[in-house]
Amino acid sequence: MTRVIGNIAIVGTGPTAIYLLQHLIAEAGPCFITLYERSGLAGVGMPYNPETTHAAMLANIASIEVPPVAETLLSWLQRQPQVILDLYGVSAETLSDRTFVPRVLLGGYFRDALETLVARGREAGVQIALREGSEVVDLRPDPDGIWLEIAAGDVPQQPILHDRVILAIGHSWPQAARVGTPAPRRLVPSPWSGLLEGGVPAAPIGILGTSLSAIDALVAVVLQHGSFTDDPGGGLVYTLLPESRGLHVTLMSRNGLLPEADFYCPLPYDPPKVMTAHAVAAAVGEGNAGLLDRLFALFLAEFRAADPAAPVLGAADEPTPDTFADHYFAARKAADPFDWAAQDLREAEANQAACRTVAWKYAILRVHEIFDAIYGDFDAGDRARFDAGLKRVFIDNYAAVPPHSIHRLLALRRAGLIDVLALGEDYEIAEARGGIAVNGNNERLRLAAVIDARGQGAQGAADLPFAGLRAALDTSDERGGPVPLSGDLEILCPAATPGRIWLPAAPFLLHRRPFLQGIPGCAAMGREVGAAVVASLAAGPRGVPAGPYDKAAAVPVGSDRIASGTGHG
Ligand SMILES: Cc1cc2nc3c(=O)[nH]c(=O)nc-3n(C[C@H](O)[C@H](O)[C@H](O)COP(=O)(O)OP(=O)(O)OC[C@H]3O[C@@H](n4cnc5c(N)ncnc54)[C@H](O)[C@@H]3O)c2cc1C
Repeated sequence: MTRVIGNIAIVGTGPTAIYLLQHLIAEAGPCFITLYERSGLAGVGMPYNPETTHAAMLANIASIEVPPVAETLLSWLQRQPQVILDLYGVSAETLSDRTFVPRVLLGGYFRDALETLVARGREAGVQIALREGSEVVDLRPDPDGIWLEIAAGDVPQQPILHDRVILAIGHSWPQAARVGTPAPRRLVPSPWSGLLEGGVPAAPIGILGTSLSAIDALVAVVLQHGSFTDDPGGGLVYTLLPESRGLHVTLMSRNGLLPEADFYCPLPYDPPKVMTAHAVAAAVGEGNAGLLDRLFALFLAEFRAADPAAPVLGAADEPTPDTFADHYFAARKAADPFDWAAQDLREAEANQAACRTVAWKYAILRVHEIFDAIYGDFDAGDRARFDAGLKRVFIDNYAAVPPHSIHRLLALRRAGLIDVLALGEDYEIAEARGGIAVNGNNERLRLAAVIDARGQGAQGAADLPFAGLRAALDTSDERGGPVPLSGDLEILCPAATPGRIWLPAAPFLLHRRPFLQGIPGCAAMGREVGAAVVASLAAGPRGVPAGPYDKAAAVPVGSDRIASGTGHG
């Protein structure tokens, strides 16, 4: 009898793939794993890749929240020579498990973690091949397994058969397009579209969005025209180059609110006191009708118990799921965004120094994952109500940014270089002769370029970047509908044997997990899918004989391949 063994493809090598690999090495037993990465540098993931990420762009997650792979992020940072840390403005002396560091350093951490996992895998009998610069351009399920079409530079590639495929493909962004010469581009589709390469003119620029990605885009623009230095009195000073005097940046969003600074809180989260697992299960057990109202009642009780004097509760009427967001944002909307940011920053830094928690903010943070898990059970009406109100509150709360990012905003404001524009619900942004015209909220702006930094929305079956898989799923009936997925993220594909293809990629899951994001989300997806793959291997049959396994194409990972360097720099 031919000996058969699991022959697994992992497409993408970002954090999700790394947490998945960690699980497979620990649990799957001897098998073959091939990692396909389209970029030239495996293991760093999209937001942490030095090819697309400026060294000044900050992660909004600190070591305390990053699930360790081979070691904690903090211990990895502490092992780095100070000369490397200096490149990123990080001081070994002040490092703690709550220090926010540039995202490129997280890329270095994950890259090293990949190398460690590969070595560990060998010891556990897992043969791992890494194909960098290899994009999976299509996949075709058939009864024997899944055929992968690969594009790797100019070298023609034979299709490769795998018996399990995990699509850890993360984010997809529009292709590169530069703002400036030689091909001027005035509506830039994302901050990752060649923005780092320079060429943003010293002229009025617009950025759509006000979140962490918008601050990234802003930093990428202003660092082309000047620099930040420490202010001896605290905070930062921005100095514009004399030749860049025409630069001005307008941050634009519907409500014109800036994000708040990350706030101190105990981690891991203290369990909720009122919105307990038992109370939530009882609320869900009563059925879908009225589910949002029942959950909101639990949330409000939790919120009130945390701080009966919380500002949101000061309004005359009792908040409802439909009015809570209005109460929450009211004072901030009425204030000048930079005054609010300065005051919030002072409070956040004082609380951080004193290890003091704003209890009502912490209550919102602790329950957002409960709403995330249950969102898929809401009926269409509850979903629409949640999206219009409470969802914005939870996102605002967990998407707080590193205090240093607020210092940068304030320094730019003091230099007279930035504004915030609330566009309102009806606005127009269109190419106009020689620039971009923006009309919104009775304001008219003429800008040289606008960078869209609003982040990626939910993706559906029709957005899958694999024509063969789209055809196998018959997406024609449900264009725009979500990818059909099981609870453990297996693609329910009639053409494939069950237990063969998984999709742990956040943009494709947002329709049922609205708050799935960040590195903890990657770790959760990696664990869930890893367990499902191990279960499917145990159930057999293991499809592909060991002999013909991808011999010609797979490049075994060895010391000559990736075991040197940290991958960053
Ligand atoms: C700009 C930005 C900043 C962020 N900052 C933070 C942060 O500070 N903290 C935080 O916790 N979270 C942050 N996130 C959330 C982020 O989604 C996760 O932290 C993480 O990067 C997601 O990991 P992933 O592995 O799922 O996807 P990705 O990181 O997107 O990695 C996917 C990988 O798959 C590869 N790939 C895709 N398609 C193919 C293909 N067909 N063939 C071969 N390879 C392919 C890509 O090249 C990439 O390397 C940020 C997200 C964005 C967009």
